[in-house]
Order: sequence, then structure tokens, then C-alpha cells
Amino acid sequence: MNIKQVMVIGSGQMGSGIAQVLAQAGYKVFLNDIKEEFVNRGIEKIQKQLQRQVEKGRLTQEEVDGTMANITPSTDYGHAKQVELVVEAATERRDLKLDIFRQLDEIAPEDAILATNTSSLSITEIAAVTKRPNKVVGMHFFNPVPVMKLLEINIGLTTDDETVAAIKEVGESLNKTIVEVKDSPGFVVNRILIPMINEAIFVLSEGISSAEEIDEAMKAGANHPIGPLALADLIGLDVTLSIMEVLYTGFKDSKYRPAPLLVKHVEAGLLGRKTGKGFFDYTK
Ligand code: NAD
Repeated sequence: MNIKQVMVIGSGQMGSGIAQVLAQAGYKVFLNDIKEEFVNRGIEKIQKQLQRQVEKGRLTQEEVDGTMANITPSTDYGHAKQVELVVEAATERRDLKLDIFRQLDEIAPEDAILATNTSSLSITEIAAVTKRPNKVVGMHFFNPVPVMKLLEINIGLTTDDETVAAIKEVGESLNKTIVEVKDSPGFVVNRILIPMINEAIFVLSEGISSAEEIDEAMKAGANHPIGPLALADLIGLDVTLSIMEVLYTGFKDSKYRPAPLLVKHVEAGLLGRKTGKGFFDYTK
């Protein structure tokens, strides 16, 4: 399949990163959000990020201008008529995503692929609201998209091989490390990473070691570049909790029960770096 034009739905943290790497690889990208100001914010973020690369001598001004020229702002799903691939990176809400896929299915060409960047929702369920369940797939990028190498291709029960092959080709053109994953709660990375963080929170709450020492232990003893509690603060404790809940309800297995101390932090609004405090204090 020859993919040249892509529409990215949602120009937040992930959508703007996805639009950036696609545009840098030469794809024509419509970057869509519900309001013009949101789209503009995403585009400004991309411009700033690329300009920093020019200052560091990693990109030329011409390359940046070329990339920016590949991005068209959009607040109209009608642009989906012109694309071979849609990558949805809107807010992580089930009802919202199902609605977006219902709408895009009516607009995008029959043979276009509809991909979602969801971290936790079922690809198979999203596919089922469309008339092309074989052409719906997960394209799970990691944050920040231009930096993180991994792309999980999350394959729904109804996704066909041709769709997976086409997405693999796109991923390769973006220079990503690709893993194919069957649709399952948490896919691969979050299924392994988030329970490890949750366990670190249990260790903390049982008074076995301090937050600083738990993180030091995992850095010095397991060669992790960042400790699990600092990583939780970076991801956001609300996001960490919601992924644990997805695993817990998805598998109905008590081994995925969220640590009560994690729940308490979220109830207190101590969500990590974004609120200034989580397991560590970022206000000083
Ligand atoms: P975000 O809040 O930064 O951005 C979401 C954007 O979607 C917002 O700008 C919002 O206005 C827009 N939006 C909402 N409804 C829309 C609609 N109907 N049409 C078009 N745009 C709409 O969120 P994010 O962190 O970029 O997450 C987006 C998706 O990526 C989620 O599915 C999330 O699970 C997934 N994800 C996030 C991360 C991460 O670390 N942040 C990592 C991997 C995957």
C-alpha cells in the first residue's frame, strides 16, 4: 500500500510528536484538533522542537522549513477524504474514541487504514464500530515520539495482515524499532513496566526502603536509567493508576491490584511532575 498522506487526530503531546516524525519522513500530514488554537499550539511545539535541533547543528533551516511545509492544520475531519492513513491520538476516553472512529469511517476512503495510538483501550472494540474492522490497528508510539525508538503495532482480532504490513512499512520509514503485539490489556511495555512501578509503590508503603533508596537500588542494581518512583512521577500518577486499573479489570487478576498508596496520591492531587509533587518534590 502506498501511503503518502496521513491525518493525525489530536494535536496534544502525542499527536504533535507523531505529526512531526511523519512530516520529517516526507509524509503530507493534516494535524487535526477540535479547536484552531489547539492545532496551532501543536504546530508551535513542533516548530520549537525542530528549531532547537537547528541550534544544535543537527538539522538545517531548509530541512525544518521542508518539514513544516508538510504539515497542514485542520479542524475538519473532511480532510480524511484525502488520506491513506489516519492516526488517532485524541484524549484517552473510550466513548470519545469510538465516536471518532465511527465518524472517520464514514469520511476516509474505503481502503484507508484507521490507526489508534491508544495506550489502554481495546483495538478490537474500536475496530468493531467501523465497517472496515480489518483495517483498524494500533500504532502505539512512546513519549516523546521523536526520541523514543519503539513502535508497538497492536493487532486487533480482526486486523488483517495487509494492514499490519503497511503499518510496519510506515514505522520503518520513521526509523522506529517495531514490535508486533496481539491486542491485550497494556500490550507489552505497559503490561510489564506499570506493574513494576506499582510494586515499587508497595515496597515504599510497606516501609521496606525510602523512595530515594528504592530508586537508587533499581538504577544501580538493575541498570535502569531512572528509578521506578521517579518514572511514575514523570508518567503522571493518574495515568499510572489508570493503566493499573485497565490491567486489573482486563485480566480480573488480583496481581494487578493498584497499590493503595498510589490511589491516595491521586486522591490528594499529588500527580508527579505535572503538579509539582508526587513521590518526590519538584517545587524546590
Ligand atoms: P493530550 O491531552 O496531550 O492530547 C489529546 C488531544 O486530543 C488534545 O489536544 C484534545 O483537544 C484532542 N482531542 C480531544 N477530542 C478530540 C476530537 N474529537 N478530535 C480531535 N482532537 C481531539 O493527550 P496525549 O498524552 O497526547 O494522549 C493522546 C493519546 O495517546 C491517548 O490515547 C493516550 O493514551 C496515548 N498515549 C499517550 C502517551 C503519553 O505518554 N502521553 C504515550 C503513548 C500513548
